[in-house]
Amino acid sequence: MKKVKKEIQTTCHRCGDCCRAGGPALHSVDLSLLQERRIPLEHLLTVRRGELVNKPGGVEPVTVELVKISGEGGSWSCRYFSEEKGCMIYSFRPQACQVLKCWDPAEILALMEQDTLDRRAVLGNGHELLPFIEEHEKACSCDFFSDLESLSAKEKAEVEERVRLDLRFRDRLAGGRGMSLGLELFFFGRPLFQLLQTSGVGIVQQGGAVSLRW
Ligand code: SF4
Ligand code: SF4
Repeated sequence: MKKVKKEIQTTCHRCGDCCRAGGPALHSVDLSLLQERRIPLEHLLTVRRGELVNKPGGVEPVTVELVKISGEGGSWSCRYFSEEKGCMIYSFRPQACQVLKCWDPAEILALMEQDTLDRRAVLGNGHELLPFIEEHEKACSCDFFSDLESLSAKEKAEVEERVRLDLRFRDRLAGGRGMSLGLELFFFGRPLFQLLQTSGVGIVQQGGAVSLRW
């Protein structure tokens, strides 16, 4: 029988699979894209330190804060990806997209969680919301996700309280200022209850009170 020779990939076919898997995390060299408003803050999502993310070894907590291009309408697919046209910002796509070669991931792996942008770097030190971002990080941090499977009853109750605090915080800061959802997701990341739901924890809302089902 004739052997079929397997073609070795050496270039990008622009199939879009990597774009459908999610928008890129931004790095220091991408800061000018934000400063020039080529990518507005409303199109970003903050992944807070401790959130669970997909890594080459499986799902693990992220060790640094990341600012990524968000998806749209609940999808992870990068908001700048069009099924018809491909990348809508190809000529100024971020560094991670430029180095990504699915057939040779060494360069993108070396970039992972290195020299990344966080909210402080994006906003600059004097931004009026930085003190609130810090207050939120302190009160509603994601540091428990690495131990989610082994939390004691007391720790679970603390997480539940954190979920409520997070919601009150968003009501006050985002709701109170008429902030769009896009901006809220950049300034404060995704709500804790959503992150917990992704990890299989149920949420029950009764008469304005939120409780968790582990
Ligand atoms: S890098 Fe790979 S997955 Fe991404 S568009 Fe190119 S061929 Fe497709
Ligand atoms: S910015 Fe462009 S290349 Fe990068 S993930 Fe989005 S659509 Fe793909």
